[in-house]
Amino acid sequence: TQAHIEALEKARVLNAYLLETPERALAMADVSDAKIAAGEGRPLEGLPLGIKDLFCTHGVHTTAGSKILEGFEPHYESAVTHNLWRDGAVMLGKLNLDEFAMGSSNETSAYGNVISPWRRNGSDAPIVPGGSSGGSAAAVAAHLCLGATATDTGGSIRQPAAFTGTVGIKPTYGRCSRWGTVAFASSLDQAGPIARTVRDCAVLLGSMSGPDSRDTTCVDLPVPDFEAAVSRGVKGLTIGIPKEYRVDGMPAEIQRLWDQGAEWLRAAGAEIREISLPHTQYALPAYYIVAPAEASSNLARYDGVRYGLRVPGKDIVGMYENTRAAGFGREVKRRIMIGTYVLSAGYYDAYYVRAQKIRTLIKRDFEAAYEAGVDAILTPATPSAAFGVGEKASADPVEMYLNDVFTVTVNMAGLPGIAVPAGIDAQGLPLGLQLIGRPFDEETLFATAQAVE
Ligand code: GLN
Repeated sequence: TQAHIEALEKARVLNAYLLETPERALAMADVSDAKIAAGEGRPLEGLPLGIKDLFCTHGVHTTAGSKILEGFEPHYESAVTHNLWRDGAVMLGKLNLDEFAMGSSNETSAYGNVISPWRRNGSDAPIVPGGSSGGSAAAVAAHLCLGATATDTGGSIRQPAAFTGTVGIKPTYGRCSRWGTVAFASSLDQAGPIARTVRDCAVLLGSMSGPDSRDTTCVDLPVPDFEAAVSRGVKGLTIGIPKEYRVDGMPAEIQRLWDQGAEWLRAAGAEIREISLPHTQYALPAYYIVAPAEASSNLARYDGVRYGLRVPGKDIVGMYENTRAAGFGREVKRRIMIGTYVLSAGYYDAYYVRAQKIRTLIKRDFEAAYEAGVDAILTPATPSAAFGVGEKASADPVEMYLNDVFTVTVNMAGLPGIAVPAGIDAQGLPLGLQLIGRPFDEETLFATAQAVE
């Protein structure tokens, strides 16, 4: 813990931490020392972690990367972080993120962008860590924590993991409790870990997940021994390669990486089979209807009365307007407007209901593949390597949304997905592969990811 506290003081230029909590960390580490001395060590005893600032932490400033939560100190602890502290982990601080987890480059944070520790060969130009869990990914990659919590609504664990050469898993929807995690799109949001190895992710997810009656979508299933699953091997497994993920304009090096990954799995004893997920092309547009719709509803609670920022106005409505105008950033306002539009009376059937129907079709595509004997599906994690800071932020927002083309299907279907580092591109930046599993079969994902890692 001491070494990590010193490391993060020296790496502030990355802007990965929004808040460092060294005193709390040292106090927690002291407890861990005592537990170990007494022979009572818990599963994560003394492991220093960073916490995405979307998880409410009791008495510790929680911002969701937004000005509207400035000054908010929750009087409760999120279920996920509670589970980590129960198992002996130590909190180093709160990690930067895109505002309300909306973004793919950590450039929408109200507290400044995060910089990846990676650079292109022979260049000093700053590179994005991905988003929205950009602080989590950068901190893990730069050794500013042993592991971090993250959340994934449309790729925000897997895309930043792929951009930074780290491992990130989004478990099945319902595996982790969402209680106490600031909501973006409730039917898609899931917590998960980012860490440097598949095994570390397995250990962390084992602690983060588990039943919780306070979140009615959290399943009442026992948590499997994820760590044991890591070394299971892939012999006899069938891995599907979905042909629809071979999108136009995909760089040749991404295709090579994908072929290489399939080859590694074949060499380790898996059978590789081409499959079809015919509704893939509709996932991204449907996601960008469903996610903003739910966000517009979830974000209605930030009214200047209950949380954080309040900007006075001439009457109560004026106060709401002034608070929301000053508190939300551009991307969040864009999502609220899109979401409100697609939910409004005249457009609900044309957009929202249609997107929900597409969601069902996407889910059925995966079900058909699994029913036909596929155990896991291999795809690239992202359509490109990380890009430079500012390179996409000012362009058409759709350009940024295209980053999520391989990851959103997994959230739409509620499935588990893991991103694992699999190579370096010609410019020296990391590239990741994604494995998608059956519902509540994270174990097979850990085993297959280990064979690729
Ligand atoms: N990039 C996606 C978005 O902006 C995903 C975000 C997420 O998974 N939190 O909506």
